[in-house]
Amino acid sequence: MSPALVAVDVAVLGAGQGGLAAAHHLARAGLARGHGYVVLDAEDAPGGAWRHRWPTLTMARVNGVHDLPGLSMRQALGPVDPGAPAARVVPAYFAAYEDALGRPVRRPLRVREVRAAGPRLLVATDGPSFAARAVLNATGTWRRPFRPYYPGAGDFLGRQLHTADYRGPAEFAGQHVVVVGGGVSAVQHLEELSAVATTTWVTRTEPVFLEPDAAGGLDVRARREAVARVAERVAAGRPPGSVVSATGLVLTPELAALRAAGVLVRRPPFARVLAHGVRWADGAEQGADAILWATGFRPVLDHLRPLHLREPGGGILVEGTRAVREPRLHLVGYGPSASTVGASRAAREAVREVLAGR
Ligand code: FAD
Repeated sequence: MSPALVAVDVAVLGAGQGGLAAAHHLARAGLARGHGYVVLDAEDAPGGAWRHRWPTLTMARVNGVHDLPGLSMRQALGPVDPGAPAARVVPAYFAAYEDALGRPVRRPLRVREVRAAGPRLLVATDGPSFAARAVLNATGTWRRPFRPYYPGAGDFLGRQLHTADYRGPAEFAGQHVVVVGGGVSAVQHLEELSAVATTTWVTRTEPVFLEPDAAGGLDVRARREAVARVAERVAAGRPPGSVVSATGLVLTPELAALRAAGVLVRRPPFARVLAHGVRWADGAEQGADAILWATGFRPVLDHLRPLHLREPGGGILVEGTRAVREPRLHLVGYGPSASTVGASRAAREAVREVLAGR
């Protein structure tokens, strides 16, 4: 084996919720850092995608960050200020977690590709390569913002940005912003923007508002059903879609107030983008200074292309977390497990399976 090729039992790709939870379970099972397992992450510091969330997304407004196994956020950081930005708090938690694990993450190291090489999977990075018996992929979605095609989008003379680029409402003061998207991010953007700007809300389908449960969140049964619907899509070899789009929006007091103020009046998709606004099929037009595409993210899986995992429907078939077409690969945080709680559970399941097959 060449010196730049490191033999390792398990390679974990990504150091977000899924990757760190996997590292915990691997370490607990007795695998040594280095030749037992490695965690490879493209970021230059801890935090996964949370490092990049917009600064006005506070801990009070996230959907809830599930504790990583073995060390809760409270144990790591003490009481957390609900007004503190998630982009600061969660990376601080992950940094403490990595310290407690003995700093297993190698970064910044971007995985370029994973391919089969005899009995092992070869993980090529922009540094060393790794020959792994098993790969746990936990590369999230943040690096693949999705923007749907709309005719004329290239003609717009105002600003177009995606949720991934949004940094808060201040820069839109006094403007008119068209917000496209029906998920939690879209309504949070509308809530912030409507305090300083006028807005138009565009969604593909009529939004479904759900009454909150006693704890103010999404009813457990509704969440389970939504996760099951995403799991069904994955099982049929289709792209997963988001869990939120399969549930609906919880009508929190903030959303109820926004609705009462007339901000959450939804318009259907427009037919084309103009130089200074958008036009619907019936000829109605809306002038706009900016279009904010809150249209979601897709799984970051480009580096897995050499494994030819895609089904004709565009998705990847998995059984539990194991890829059907490449059983040495597990997908953590993919489809039904694309949440902090889901990624933590998927990591545990993936590690159990990998260790059972040794
Ligand atoms: P990430 O946290 O995205 O970590 C993936 C890591 O892999 C990153 O560090 C990335 O740099 C790295 N990586 C990617 N590609 C490569 C590569 N080729 N080589 C090396 N490293 C790579 N879920 C909740 O439960 N609660 C919430 O409040 C919540 N809010 C959300 C808000 C937004 C705007 C979004 C988009 C998602 C939200 N989610 C939330 C979903 C949640 O963030 C994720 O499901 C979960 O945190 C993802 O963890 P992860 O480990 O899969 O990915």
